[in-house]
Amino acid sequence: MTVTIDRIECWVHRAPIDVPVANAFGAMSNRPALWLRLTDSDGGSGWGEVFCNFPQVGAEHRARLIDSLFVPLLKGLEASDPAPVRAHLERRTHRMAIQCGEPGPFAQIIGAVDQAMWDLCARRAGQPVWRYAGGGRACVRPYASGIGPDGVAETVRARWQQGYRAFKLKLGFGLERDLANLAEMRSVIGPDTPLMCDANQAWDLSEARAMLEAIEVFKPFWVEEPLAADRPLSEWRELAASSPLALAAGENIRGEGDFLAMLDAGCLRFVQPDVGKWGGLSGGLQIARRARALGVAYCPHWLAGGLGLAASMHALAASGDTQGWAEVDANPNPLRESIFPFQIQDGLVTLGDAPGFGLEPDLEACRAWRIDHHRVG
Ligand SMILES: [Mg+2]
Repeated sequence: MTVTIDRIECWVHRAPIDVPVANAFGAMSNRPALWLRLTDSDGGSGWGEVFCNFPQVGAEHRARLIDSLFVPLLKGLEASDPAPVRAHLERRTHRMAIQCGEPGPFAQIIGAVDQAMWDLCARRAGQPVWRYAGGGRACVRPYASGIGPDGVAETVRARWQQGYRAFKLKLGFGLERDLANLAEMRSVIGPDTPLMCDANQAWDLSEARAMLEAIEVFKPFWVEEPLAADRPLSEWRELAASSPLALAAGENIRGEGDFLAMLDAGCLRFVQPDVGKWGGLSGGLQIARRARALGVAYCPHWLAGGLGLAASMHALAASGDTQGWAEVDANPNPLRESIFPFQIQDGLVTLGDAPGFGLEPDLEACRAWRIDHHRVG
């Protein structure tokens, strides 16, 4: 079935939070979300979310990029599935992105358009995206992410109550602090519950080697971004070879070539593309297929609003990777919680059979957080 894209809209939201979210690279003092809706000429629609967590001022800029450069490329476009739309946008914006030195925001927007096309096409077909995109399985394993550096035990206990049985701690706040937080988390979750660690690119190679040795006693399930994502593959290989701990990365890798090079280098046991940073569902599923052939688990990264979280979970479910984990932010974010509420049963989230991503955001309910609304068509 061919759809003709008729209307392109985006909404910038920003929700205040009481406690800033601290990371090794910087803090987030509020929770932004940039949502995009495509409407076709028959009135069908689909939703996507653009990464805009950091810097905090970036959401409005990406919305203006959509307005000025992407709307003209999308308006009136005909397609029968998401792949040609993504290919068209990548081809037409490739040189622009180089020219303005902004390949990241361009890739993030294309990722959201791809999500919206999957939602739109799956709704048209009357199927949930997870089935329409591959039919893997209806459920995913979530883990509670973004925990620390403060209030570790308190956050873990609250999320345990909600059914989470795997937890990720933020590292990169100094050896003493990191070790104390690891000990605190282990003491709450016990010796056998998966405990993931995320250094957010905090260390150089020698620091990473020393840190991995120091934290091995806590049996981390994986160590995420122990090095900057753009460090040479030789460093990643060296680190992977010098430690028995499993390494994870992907949220800051962009482009199929770079993902495949990283996977083929054999450094990772978990790969984490982000549907709102590069490739949308289509790119994520391409990476998931290659990862599976190499025995690497697909664990889509997501730490923003509810639309992208739904897209991320559908991508994992569609991949059929039973070793994968879906990242769910443990920090408060009304733009996630109010848009995509879900239950965890026996450690799993079941996505159900509702068409598309199975949700329609209540924009009126989000009005208090709205900064801007752009509409063309
Ligand atoms: Mg991370």
